[in-house]
Amino acid sequence: MADLPAPRLLDRFGRIGRDLRVSVTDRCNLRCSYCMPAEGLEWMAKPEMLTDDELVRVIAMLVGLGVTSVRMTGGEPLLRRSLVDVVGRVAALEPRPRIAMTTNGIGLDRLAAPLAAAGLDRVNVSLDTVVPEHFARLTRRDRFQDVVAGLKAAADAGLVPVKVNAVAMRGVNDTDVVELLQWCLDRGYELRFIEQMPLDPQHAWDRSAMVPQAEILERLGERFRLTPVPGRGSAPAELFHVDGGPQTVGIIASVSAPFCGSCDRVRLTADGQVRNCLFARREVDLRGPLRAGASDDELSDLVVAEMWAKAAGHGIDRPGFRQPDRPMSAIGG
Ligand code: SAM
Ligand code: SF4
Repeated sequence: MADLPAPRLLDRFGRIGRDLRVSVTDRCNLRCSYCMPAEGLEWMAKPEMLTDDELVRVIAMLVGLGVTSVRMTGGEPLLRRSLVDVVGRVAALEPRPRIAMTTNGIGLDRLAAPLAAAGLDRVNVSLDTVVPEHFARLTRRDRFQDVVAGLKAAADAGLVPVKVNAVAMRGVNDTDVVELLQWCLDRGYELRFIEQMPLDPQHAWDRSAMVPQAEILERLGERFRLTPVPGRGSAPAELFHVDGGPQTVGIIASVSAPFCGSCDRVRLTADGQVRNCLFARREVDLRGPLRAGASDDELSDLVVAEMWAKAAGHGIDRPGFRQPDRPMSAIGG
């Protein structure tokens, strides 16, 4: 294996960017209400999106700046037709980054095996409830069984441990958390709840609608005995052993207990913008310079400067906080 390059994605607070989230498309086949409006969201025009060659070139440049982990996300990453090929090309980089994907699972029944063969290491599948009617209401689409099939295919393809991401919404699926955890435990999937963040482009965010970590733990505690797993370090998820272990459940309390102080993320949008934070108010354009003939060194300098300017934290709970201009589906979760 090649030596690791010296990390260059540093910021003023001593954090190092290592974990790249790539939105490979802004398109999606679900319309989760915490992420997208029911209708009216315009997709990026094809010419605006990075081509495969451009995408792989930017990822390779970022690996050269010290990125060690690349997560394919979106929108729905499985909707990018060339995804298997892109994963294969990223897996061929030296040094080879770890490759993960966050997906809604639709189409994974067909794609899990080819993606694993191309070099995908891990997968997180988003599933917020196992009550089919609640799933249809939350995602505005009746695709629950497709997700179930996708999860099974991921496990069969060896993309283990299969992780499940869930967002609890008050009055929609907050009463389903116990059933969801039992369902995941029965199948060997590792469940993680993520607190709902202010990313819904249509509505001003209302903190009281968010189901915080404390409330999820309280609900789960009615059925399961949860004990904190020691040695969390700077990991975003706080893990709990369920009924003495070894199985666990995690909570990512991005709002009530932010982990910005140890954030190692960098984001690349499908149209070639680099963001130093999900909630950044600005981004740096790589696509324009890239198409105008910029060298890798020139592109690197743009990213290094943008990372240096990263804010200390997202400030969701601070007065004056403003939601990002783009929806989560365009930024990449
Ligand atoms: N379509 C894929 C999926 O759903 O897994 C990948 C993109 S999605 C934007 C990535 C993750 O962000 C999902 O796990 C989703 O639940 C989460 N997410 C979307 N909007 C969110 C919000 N407002 N707060 C917290 N998590 C959110
Ligand atoms: Fe699509 Fe994922 Fe957003 Fe749901 S969370 S609408 S599946 S991008």
